[in-house]
Amino acid sequence: MPATSPLIDRHTHLEGALDPAWVRKEAEARGLALPRSLEALWRGEAQPFEAFIEAFLFSAQLLDSRAAIRDAVSAVAQRTLQAGGLGFDLWCSPSFLVSHLQQISLEDFWRGLEEGLALAEAQSLRGSVVVDAVNHFGPAHGHAVLDLIAQDLPSFVAGFSTGGLERVPFREWAPVFDRARKMGLKIAAHAGENGDGAQVREAVLEGGVSRIVHGLRAEDATWELLAERRIPVDVCPSSNALLAADVSPHPLPRMLALGVRCALGTDDPGVIPCDLRSEAKAARAFGLQTEDLETMRRFGAEDAWCLQ
Ligand SMILES: [Zn+2]
Repeated sequence: MPATSPLIDRHTHLEGALDPAWVRKEAEARGLALPRSLEALWRGEAQPFEAFIEAFLFSAQLLDSRAAIRDAVSAVAQRTLQAGGLGFDLWCSPSFLVSHLQQISLEDFWRGLEEGLALAEAQSLRGSVVVDAVNHFGPAHGHAVLDLIAQDLPSFVAGFSTGGLERVPFREWAPVFDRARKMGLKIAAHAGENGDGAQVREAVLEGGVSRIVHGLRAEDATWELLAERRIPVDVCPSSNALLAADVSPHPLPRMLALGVRCALGTDDPGVIPCDLRSEAKAARAFGLQTEDLETMRRFGAEDAWCLQ
C-alpha cells in the first residue's frame, strides 16, 4: 500500500479566501456595511453570479496593505491546515489591486505574499502563487499584467492564468501565454466554467495552456485529450454548485473515468464557505468512492505547482 499523498488545495483565490471574521472586523473598522450578497453567501444561500462578484469585490477592497495581504495568505494556510492539507496553489490578481483599484503598491503586495508564505512555511505548508489576468479584458490587458509583474517577479510566482468571463478565444491569448512562458511561468486557464467546452479544447490546442481550472463544460473528446496530454484539471464542487449550477450532474466522475488528472480546490472559500473536507464530501455525493478520492489526492500532489 503506497503512502498517502499530501493533500493540496489545488485552486484557491487570495481575494476570495479571506476569513469571514477578518472581513467583518475590517469592514467595521472602516465603517463599511457588509453587502447582503456576502452575508447570504456565508449562510449558504444561492445567489446570482452578479451577487458573487459584488461579494468578491467587497472583500478584495479590504486588501490594501502588506499586513492585509499577509493575513489573507494566513487565512488560506489556516483553512488548508484545518482540513488536513499540506499546501496550496494560490491564484491572485495584482493588476486588479495595484493597477485598477490602485489601493496598494506592487512592492507591498509582493512583500505581503512573501510574509504570508513564510508564516505558512513555518507551519510546514507549501504555497505557490499564480497571477491571474481577466479573459474578457483581452490580450492587451494580459500584456499589461505581464508588464506590471515583469520588473520584480518573486520566485514564489509559479504561473500565469486567465479567469473571468471566457469571452475572448484562447488563440488570441496565445502571444500573451508565450511571453509569460518565456518569463519562466507555467500557464493555466479558467475554461469550461462559464464558457463552452470548445474553449477548453482551444485553451490547450491553441493557447498551449498546461493546466485547466474547472473544465466542466467540455465533452468526452476534450476530456480524452486532457487525459492523453496529462493536463491537470482543478475541480471546485462548492464553487461549481453556485457559479455553474446548470452543469448537472457534475461531470467529475466522468472526467476521472476518462483518465483526466482531476484534483480538488476550494476556489473562493471566504465567499462561498467550503474547505478541502467539504469538497471531498461533495465529490462523494457525486458517487465517487474512497479510491477515486485517493487518486485525486495523488494527482493533486503530483501536479501541484507548490510542490514542484
Ligand atoms: Zn478560480
